[in-house]
Amino acid sequence: MAYKETFWMACDSTEQLRAEYGPFQSRNEAEQEARKLGFGYLLRYEHIIGENDEIQEVRCIFLELAPSTAPPRVNRRLHTRCATCGESAAHDEAWRAEVWADIHEFEHARHRVRLFEQTRAEGLREIGDWRDTCA
Ligand SMILES: [Zn+2]
Repeated sequence: MAYKETFWMACDSTEQLRAEYGPFQSRNEAEQEARKLGFGYLLRYEHIIGENDEIQEVRCIFLELAPSTAPPRVNRRLHTRCATCGESAAHDEAWRAEVWADIHEFEHARHRVRLFEQTRAEGLREIGDWRDTCA
């Protein structure tokens, strides 16, 4: 019976002459190490091992890591503030602001959450009509 052995490497490119670091048993470990080293890729190796423990086949798959070292979208920060009770929060991503507003408006009937965008250049600016308020 052939079986498959899988392991992960962190690597800095998909070129033939690349730096690789590893191996790691799990993708998470490899990813953490790659981020520490500033590497942008993971390499997943699959060895198909035959009856006599010989490697019959090697497969490798590159995975590109999403850049996480980049600053969250150029100094833009979203602020939600309830126009009714004044509760507020800050968010890095639009969907988080929306979730916050959904939860707040769900928990407090007839409260209305407003959204503001803060950039270093322009300061705080309200984003009107950001949600469907017909409901
Ligand atoms: Zn409120």
